[in-house]
Amino acid sequence: MQNRTPDQDPAEMSHIFPRHSKLNAPVAVSGDGCYLIDKSGKRYLDGSGGAAVSCLGHGDRVVIDAIKAQLDTLAFAHTGFFTSEPAEELADLLIEHAPAGLDRVYLVSGGSEAAEAAIKLARQYFVEKGEPERGKLIARKQSYHGNTIGALSAGGNEWRRSQFGPLLLDVSHIDPCYEYRLREEGESLEDYGQRAAQALEDEILRLGPDTVMAFMAEPVVGATAGALVPAPGYFERIRAICDQYGVLLILDEVMCGMGRTGSLFACEQDGVVPDIVCIAKGLGAGYQPIGAMLCTAEIYETIAQGTGFFQHGHTYVGHPAAAAGGLAVVTALLERNLIPRVQTKGETLHERLVERFGQHPHVGDIRGRGLFRGIELVRDRESKAPFDPSQGIAGQIKKAAFEAGLICYPMSGTIDGRRGDHILLAPPFIIEDAQIDELIDKLDTAIASVL
Ligand code: PMP
Repeated sequence: MQNRTPDQDPAEMSHIFPRHSKLNAPVAVSGDGCYLIDKSGKRYLDGSGGAAVSCLGHGDRVVIDAIKAQLDTLAFAHTGFFTSEPAEELADLLIEHAPAGLDRVYLVSGGSEAAEAAIKLARQYFVEKGEPERGKLIARKQSYHGNTIGALSAGGNEWRRSQFGPLLLDVSHIDPCYEYRLREEGESLEDYGQRAAQALEDEILRLGPDTVMAFMAEPVVGATAGALVPAPGYFERIRAICDQYGVLLILDEVMCGMGRTGSLFACEQDGVVPDIVCIAKGLGAGYQPIGAMLCTAEIYETIAQGTGFFQHGHTYVGHPAAAAGGLAVVTALLERNLIPRVQTKGETLHERLVERFGQHPHVGDIRGRGLFRGIELVRDRESKAPFDPSQGIAGQIKKAAFEAGLICYPMSGTIDGRRGDHILLAPPFIIEDAQIDELIDKLDTAIASVL
């Protein structure tokens, strides 16, 4: 390997794709609880768990040892021939703790794969059911479901989609439930939630109810909107509309699931059970690449009694070492009682954010659930006018925070001409109050250096 020095021309530093060399990224060499450490010894507080991944923090010996033990016993057995003990145990554990009604598990290697599998499962379900005309998907603007072409088609992130149109799937996108920007003056939060959900019924009717297969949404929107929380009653109305028209509800909990918002499945707090749910990120907690899709017995049985099996699969689905990692992570979340901790530490984080930034002239909204918090940055608080996109404010703050030793996740997206600059915070569940203070101080330094 070449000997790389920090002052080398970034283009010469790395043979990995330009994005990495352009960032002039330091080399990460180790992890310690809530911190990552680079080759120079600099420590970074992981304020966003990477991208809401590292829920247990870094260097968790129990999880590492479980994966090592699995590798010592059995690294791989193709699911075309075998199942494996960790995959079976992980599926059992997920079903045991998932909302009642989600009875089957399909293990994959990440979030995009989970979203792809969900879309294909919905389609195959209707084909097997004798309703092949149901092929349309409805999703939401300002959402992200992954970077593979199907998941990208489902997502409503214009910036990520812009270079790949026309996309493969014909997906219509309704407005998200975005109280800060879309609630009208004088409208109660509950009324707004009902109005936002009504957009789904309107779209189903516009497309023709018998042609729609599924509605896909993130319960708490992550990467494209900085922890956007639904209005009370929104998802209950969405569920009722889906039921009324025989449309499947797919919830993408890749970012907000696995305890991140204070319940193992985020939808528990919205009182709904989807037909299909996608999880990833926190499931492997960064120790293994793993995701999963859970679905109802009705979907599974329809396919089982039809052609007999889900026409899908990647080589590494149900990978034993990945499953052992997922099993150890979910076991740790439950046995260490970390989910109630997410609620209390999440409240502390929120209080401190409000104390420090609540009156900031460029902070429009502070929102989120559990240890999943977002800050929406605005040029003008009164009018909620966003910054000029060319300024790349969120990106500048990310950079300044990184220099100060804090990892936070920025997002600058466009929705119908409205630009949103957000900072997403999703620290490990083991974060202590002193580290929350450190996070706030470093974020303050970063924001002050940019705005
Ligand atoms: N869905 C959501 C809600 C996500 O946030 C992400 C990743 N940011 C994905 C899907 C895609 O997951 P992955 O990057 O693991 O493919």
